[in-house]
Amino acid sequence: MNSKPTISIVVPVYNEELVLPELYQRISVVMAQTGEPWELLLVNDGSRDRSAEVIGQLHSQDGRVKGISFSRNFGFQIAATAGLDHAQGDAVILTDADLQDPPEVYPQMIAKWREGYDVVYGIRKSRVGETWFKLVTSKLFYRLIYRITSIDIPLDTGDFRLMDRRVIDAIRQMPERNRFLRGLVPWVGYKQTGIEYERQARFAGESKFGGVRQMLPFALDAITSFSYIPLQLATYLGFTIAGVSGLAILMVVLVRLLGPQTPLLGQATTLVAVLFLGGVQLISLGIIGEYLGRIYDEVKGRPLYLIDKRWGIEDEEVKG
Ligand code: UDP
Ligand code: MG
Repeated sequence: MNSKPTISIVVPVYNEELVLPELYQRISVVMAQTGEPWELLLVNDGSRDRSAEVIGQLHSQDGRVKGISFSRNFGFQIAATAGLDHAQGDAVILTDADLQDPPEVYPQMIAKWREGYDVVYGIRKSRVGETWFKLVTSKLFYRLIYRITSIDIPLDTGDFRLMDRRVIDAIRQMPERNRFLRGLVPWVGYKQTGIEYERQARFAGESKFGGVRQMLPFALDAITSFSYIPLQLATYLGFTIAGVSGLAILMVVLVRLLGPQTPLLGQATTLVAVLFLGGVQLISLGIIGEYLGRIYDEVKGRPLYLIDKRWGIEDEEVKG
């Protein structure tokens, strides 16, 4: 029973008490078909509902279900990281708890892995039961990221993917706090491929990433982790505006010297120019601030997460 699993299924869990039993059920059926030894590692990210109890129950029912409970909510990226830190398998499948990424896709992923691929990510062919706002913003987001970062983040993929042990070991060497796994995994390289699947509607409960308040910081983390273009933007804008105003100065001088006493457009122009420049400066400062804050986070060097409880996972030093 305590033999080492080949496949670890890592699942960040935040208020998913309604979903977990069904998740376990579907996974055990699918994994039985594959014949691979497996473990299901549930990372409870400070849930406020009974998710922790449910994890405890599932673990006592089936030793292949293991769990970690954080001391509080640390967010999806960190929960996924903790899962990768504690998974024992030769390959890890990272998936949401809500069954939006159907376990029935695992056999295909495992087959690709057996063929020799190190990363098999799920490409969302269609998405059921999402708001149009989320669909439009995520389409835009992926395209933006694709254009302004230097690594090839595959379009229309989420975090649902299988990763080989050597990819996981590489990711575990990345100490950064602002973790954007969807970028870190392609950064690692090796042989990566994707398979298409239909993203389902959430099985129960509600989405935690529906609103702008969750999506905006996520997008900023993604961009600042992988691109300097926003910083360079300030430089380019500065040069452009300086250039244009240089020309304007020349024009003013010429008009003054050559023309009759034509008064130049007065206050309104001045005001608009000053306000515009003020705006540009504030935006540039803000952009620097986004990077600076993240550098500050890194420098503080706090541990990524704190573990409160474990089920079937041995005690070890908390990763910093
Ligand atoms: N999740 C988490 N910590 C959080 C928010 C969400 O671990 O702070 C988990 C959640 O339980 C789920 C996954 O992240 O397994 C994806 O969340 P959700 O389904 O709400 O997002 P969506 O699929 O709507 O983008
Ligand atoms: Mg979901």
